[in-house]
Amino acid sequence: MRTSPFIPQSASPEIIIQKSAAQWKGLIETYRSYLPVSDTTPVVTLLEGNTPLIPVPYISEQVGRGVKVFVKYDGLNPTGSFKDRGMTMAISKAKELGAQAVICASTGNTSASAAAYAKRAGMRAFVMIPDGYVALGKLAQALLYGAEVIAIDGNFDEALRIVRQLSENYPVTLVNSVNPYRLEGQKTAAFEVVDALGNAPDWLCVPVGNAGNITAYWMGFCEYHQQKYCDRLPKMMGFQAAGSAPLVAGKPILHPETLATAIRIGNPANWEKAIAVKEASLGAFNSVTDEDILDAYQILAAHEGIFCEPASAASVAGLLKLKDEVPSHGTVVCVLTGNGLKDPDSAIRVSNNAVKSVIPDLAVVAELMGF
Ligand SMILES: *Cc1c(COP(=O)(O)O)cnc(C)c1O
Repeated sequence: MRTSPFIPQSASPEIIIQKSAAQWKGLIETYRSYLPVSDTTPVVTLLEGNTPLIPVPYISEQVGRGVKVFVKYDGLNPTGSFKDRGMTMAISKAKELGAQAVICASTGNTSASAAAYAKRAGMRAFVMIPDGYVALGKLAQALLYGAEVIAIDGNFDEALRIVRQLSENYPVTLVNSVNPYRLEGQKTAAFEVVDALGNAPDWLCVPVGNAGNITAYWMGFCEYHQQKYCDRLPKMMGFQAAGSAPLVAGKPILHPETLATAIRIGNPANWEKAIAVKEASLGAFNSVTDEDILDAYQILAAHEGIFCEPASAASVAGLLKLKDEVPSHGTVVCVLTGNGLKDPDSAIRVSNNAVKSVIPDLAVVAELMGF
């Protein structure tokens, strides 16, 4: 096996490294030789990528049998989700091809990311969202970045159908994960996982909506494997919310429901690719209930100090559900796709914690604290 050139030479194997922030130039510059860009591609970047791979000891203990669990915290990207990895590529290529406007259908994070990168590139950004099903933080971002936000009285799948037709008939580039450049950018997350661990994990657990991310991770692992930077490939374990689990049911879900709005998708745009990834990796699709998702969401926050959005917690919920199937002493990476701050309403609703109000008096406060 070879050592990836992207690993700093002095790295101790005990320490999960990130590349030096001072040297980080964004994922296109770092992984340029693996991406469809040329010297003349205008790189539109917010220095996305290089997110931490964090050990989660409490969750490792729950799984037991010496299994080591890490989370890839992609909620630390510039707009707070992994979508930025794909968007830096999609917008750079759109700019290279002369696009003046981009469009996407979105459950929220794609719209925030598309808006940020399109605006940075000087383009118009149109985003179509399912009315009432987008988390507050995501909507706030899209609006402030200056996107032209269109809410439809329908779900994501209906929005995607319309934006696809718009992009075929009008001068506007589609930046959903059916855009191949999105997946190219997103595959870099797999490179970072291998660079940090020194090999591929046994399992990669990932929440699945349109199945772009699971497809992209697999592309990345396969490319690194071909380069011999890892000597094995992970089982790709995709998790969908029980109320919107078309890949588990084997058929589209007409009215998908889940509080994990980022994965409230009934007809995944990358369906065939997802099935191919499952088969090639000997992986599986499983569902987790909203209750499982919220339990994992709270465990991550209260035991590990990690705040992700509900959809992201589906990866950990899935691992905990299937924990007895993980090989002993194995390594598991759960992808945390988005930041918890995206969806403050869910956090406040779910938490059984409460703010305690008192008068500004030392003795009263001390008594309240139990001293
Ligand atoms: C987009 C998104 C997903 C789903 O990713 P797909 O590529 O559509 O499968 C999961 N979690 C979050 C937070 C997302 O924004």
